[in-house]
Amino acid sequence: MQLPYYLKNVLHLFYPHQCCGCGSDILPGNDLLCLKCTALLPFTQFETIAGNTVEKIFYGRVKLSSAFSLFYFSRHQLVQRLIHQFKYGGNIKLGEYLGKLMGNALQNNPRFTGLDVLVPLPLHAKKIYKRGFNQAEILCRGIMQVTGLPVVDHLSVIREKFTETQTHKHRVERWENVVESFAVQQPEFLKNKHVLIVDDVVTTGATLESCVMALQHIEGIELSIATLALANK
Ligand SMILES: [Zn+2]
Repeated sequence: MQLPYYLKNVLHLFYPHQCCGCGSDILPGNDLLCLKCTALLPFTQFETIAGNTVEKIFYGRVKLSSAFSLFYFSRHQLVQRLIHQFKYGGNIKLGEYLGKLMGNALQNNPRFTGLDVLVPLPLHAKKIYKRGFNQAEILCRGIMQVTGLPVVDHLSVIREKFTETQTHKHRVERWENVVESFAVQQPEFLKNKHVLIVDDVVTTGATLESCVMALQHIEGIELSIATLALANK
């Protein structure tokens, strides 16, 4: 239904529609970001480049076909605010929108041709209970809307393990040392498929590596990775 202009303005008073990046209410149509924030998005633009920073993270660890992150992540900057609103503020619409941007980067990209399915990095049941959703799954939904690739959910977290001795570590570092292990259900379904593993942020790559390790034994499988953002270690 098209609303008259004056009615839209009245509605805006009661249901303010604000930019997810800066809070400005000067938004084109129903967009989630204002033009200024859109122009500030720190795209890595390396999704078409072999040997990019994300692929280097996994060198010598696991075999991947291709990998990329859409944005550079910096503390207290736009991308962090968006991820925060999406993950902790429950802004699912924003998550799907960010997923669509990932989909745009994959679409017609020669390094990601022949993808068959999207696999969201599973989230521990405790976290899903707390958050109400798996952020990687929401990103996959956005990617699916652009690429038409199906989302499959054949992975689950089986346990958490600590990679290093914890005794002298600071609390935050301790958390980062938690690596999850994954189990695959119905592995035969992923046979001979090119799988794109999707997550929100890659830092050390430990969790994604663990996920690749759970999948790589499947016959004929090819694995690639896409994350919304790349953070410094
Ligand atoms: Zn803005």
